[in-house]
Amino acid sequence: MSPIEALLRSHLPEVDYSLQREVCEAHGSDYTEDLLFLPEAVAWPRSAQQVADLLKDCNMAGIPVYTRGAGTGLSGACLPVKGGLVLSTRKLNAILEIDTKNAQARVQPGVINAELKAKAQEFGLWYAPDPASFQSSTIGGNIAHGAGGPKAVKYGTTREHILNLQVALPNGDLIWTGADTLKNATGFSLTQLMIGSEGLLGIVTEAVVKLVRKPAKEKLMLACFAQSRQAALAVNGILNSVSNLPAALELMEKRAVQISKQATQTAFPEHQDAEYYLLIAIEGELEEELMHQSEELYGFLDQSGALEVWMPQSSQHQEDWWKVRRAMGEAVKQISIYKEEDAVVPRAALPELLTGLEQIRSHYGFETVSYGHAGDGNLHINILKSHLSDEEWKEEVPKGIKEIFKLCKELGGTLSGEHGVGLVQAPYLSDVLDPGALALMRGIKAVFDPNGILNPGKWV
Ligand SMILES: Cc1cc2nc3c(=O)[nH]c(=O)nc-3n(C[C@H](O)[C@H](O)[C@H](O)COP(=O)(O)OP(=O)(O)OC[C@H]3O[C@@H](n4cnc5c(N)ncnc54)[C@H](O)[C@@H]3O)c2cc1C
Repeated sequence: MSPIEALLRSHLPEVDYSLQREVCEAHGSDYTEDLLFLPEAVAWPRSAQQVADLLKDCNMAGIPVYTRGAGTGLSGACLPVKGGLVLSTRKLNAILEIDTKNAQARVQPGVINAELKAKAQEFGLWYAPDPASFQSSTIGGNIAHGAGGPKAVKYGTTREHILNLQVALPNGDLIWTGADTLKNATGFSLTQLMIGSEGLLGIVTEAVVKLVRKPAKEKLMLACFAQSRQAALAVNGILNSVSNLPAALELMEKRAVQISKQATQTAFPEHQDAEYYLLIAIEGELEEELMHQSEELYGFLDQSGALEVWMPQSSQHQEDWWKVRRAMGEAVKQISIYKEEDAVVPRAALPELLTGLEQIRSHYGFETVSYGHAGDGNLHINILKSHLSDEEWKEEVPKGIKEIFKLCKELGGTLSGEHGVGLVQAPYLSDVLDPGALALMRGIKAVFDPNGILNPGKWV
């Protein structure tokens, strides 16, 4: 019996672990490109204590541990690049409490984002962070990436909605990082440190999250523009001038719309001269409130050079428009091998990012399909392999990616707004991070995980 099997057998019943090849294969990839790494085993612990005990023994035996939520990540952060154990949170999936008095929920990490939203809604509350993967990604994965989403422009990212975390550490300790309070000025914020830590510092075994009241009504508007610059300028204009902040401002290149429309077979308006589309969500309590907001936006979009502005004629239209936007990532994946970059800049620099991207793209001769959370200055740039040779894909494309990140840095931005560093962005980290900051991050990793058993082979 291998050491890993003996270890698992000593902690878990047989139904809660597997060494079968098909199971390992199913846990060896995520949504990042076409990467696959085989772990030696997969475990599904059912309690925080089991997680802590497993982690402690893996630490002592030098077995790598890769925590996995739903495996929807786009930077390869959960991939078991050095084999070892994939610790799945699938069976840690209970919503432990909805505390209506404090508008908070206490959940295990394997709870799916959409399930928490639905449960909170039964109590007239809402969990606001909304990655486009919300129907499948887990709260633990969202925390470990600091996930954003279309409505981060109004509500903020996951980072703004986490109050307290229970974390299992490699030495077997189970700690709480803070308190269940809206404010906390008691020492360093370990809670914020854990958010975005990509399974490198500890394993989140429970989370206390903030809930909000969901506005009663949402309305979408769709505008199209002949040039990327006009669309990006309109985003900034809207955020700086309208009296009510929209809940979402999503920018979509024409090709992204066409690919997603085709893949989903969903109706979505198009204009023959449009190069870019802007999907805007507004929220409010009353229909009149939304009418007033949409009139103000309509006037602004008209002055900004929009070729056409559409309003949904039914709730079905509204659902279809969201569906086309949310399916974009998956739809692009179906047409070509691709690399997805998650560039982010201060939002006023978005026009320069788009212009610079066009220049880099034509210099290196690759095709891109872009869309993203323009209200946050966050653009998902999908670089397609399509006609490129394997050599160009391996040698030239990374040079182009480096240029894109250099440009982000010059504009005051960085390489990832929400997908994380993981495996695939690691080679570019020193292009955007101060060497002193990177050294501090490595030091922090060594404090939490001196033997480097958590998620080894990644950026830190
Ligand atoms: C179609 C699609 C749309 C997407 N849209 C968005 C979007 O709008 N915004 C966005 O931010 N992202 C988006 N993503 C990316 C992805 O869904 C998010 O990063 C999500 O947060 C990952 O959650 P997961 O449960 O799948 O985590 P996984 O992919 O399983 O893991 C991600 C990271 O979290 C770590 N991890 C997981 N659970 C824990 C835990 N309990 N403790 C410690 N570490 C843990 C893993 O080790 C890994 O490093 C999208 C992905 C897809 C496929």
